[in-house]
Amino acid sequence: MSSANEFLAALPDGGLVLASDGSITAANAHAKDMLQLRLTGLSAFNVIRLPAFSEAVEKCAREGSAQTVELEIHSRPPRLLEAHVALLGQDGSMLVVLRDLTREQQIERMRSDFVANASHEMRTPLTAILGTIETLQGPARDDPKARDRFFSTMLTQARRMKRLVDDLLTLSRIELNEHVRPGGRVDLADVARQARSNLLGLAKEVAVDLTVAGADGAIVAGDADELLQVAQNLIENALKYGNGGGKVEVKCETRGGKVVFSVRDWGKGIAEIHLPRLTERFYRVSTQESRARGGTGLGLAIVKHIVSRHRGSLAIESREGQGSTFSVSIPVYTSGI
Ligand code: ADP
Repeated sequence: MSSANEFLAALPDGGLVLASDGSITAANAHAKDMLQLRLTGLSAFNVIRLPAFSEAVEKCAREGSAQTVELEIHSRPPRLLEAHVALLGQDGSMLVVLRDLTREQQIERMRSDFVANASHEMRTPLTAILGTIETLQGPARDDPKARDRFFSTMLTQARRMKRLVDDLLTLSRIELNEHVRPGGRVDLADVARQARSNLLGLAKEVAVDLTVAGADGAIVAGDADELLQVAQNLIENALKYGNGGGKVEVKCETRGGKVVFSVRDWGKGIAEIHLPRLTERFYRVSTQESRARGGTGLGLAIVKHIVSRHRGSLAIESREGQGSTFSVSIPVYTSGI
């Protein structure tokens, strides 16, 4: 029979062996890492100072039945652990298996935040459409002028809902494929020119001069449709939020084994505190401004996921009052990827 230490070392989770009085007689590296302490020799009740844990150990010692409890450890950063306490032998010693649930808890929280945000985003245009229909059935029934105005409101709101649903579907499709590296051969300069031609109408509308400078050989392994989406989302943002500057410059360069695709605007820029959060779903500097410009708050989240699928990176440089540069770097195509 191997020693307790060898047994604990083979466990994929945190493991402690306690004597009947609760003192720790053996601990593996995972447990030391989770509890951020050198454990052997200490009392488990001093290491994990939570009544739920002491109760579980005492109940296990008293009744001999295995106990499972969740423990919120107030470390920095805080952790959520699940402790499974079971009797080991006749001498009253106990085995404590610790599973770190922190990541699962974070994912669960993100999922419920996401559902709450998405529902809220949907409800706003839906409420506007319902209100408009009620008005059309009642006070505006016989007023052709008011009717036209209300139909146009309904169209705007329905389009907003459609954009939101389209973006949500795009996001979930990309997430499903994120671990599969795309294998096509894509010229990013072509993609940039295509994006420009698709967005020339919008550029004209907001009176922005949209230019593309593309070097030859800007070839990456990728999915052409997804990369076009990246280019369009970044250029569209530059046109929407950078229109004070009058011009938007798109560049495609090859540097150090990477193709760098960048979009520069001279608009009002973004304050530094927002930069780390911009690619979170539904994060906006100003919700009102984003909505007024037809934004869903998902454009940069989509960009981030596509770029990550292409093993690339996204960099954002911006200064308030001086505009922004969004740069995507993707490894140059090499055969055999
Ligand atoms: P949205 O649909 O709101 O445009 P995005 O995910 O594309 O969503 O962008 C998130 C937020 O980032 C925007 O609401 C805006 O506040 C900010 N942003 C994005 N691009 C720019 C830019 N070029 N200049 C200034 N702010 C920008």
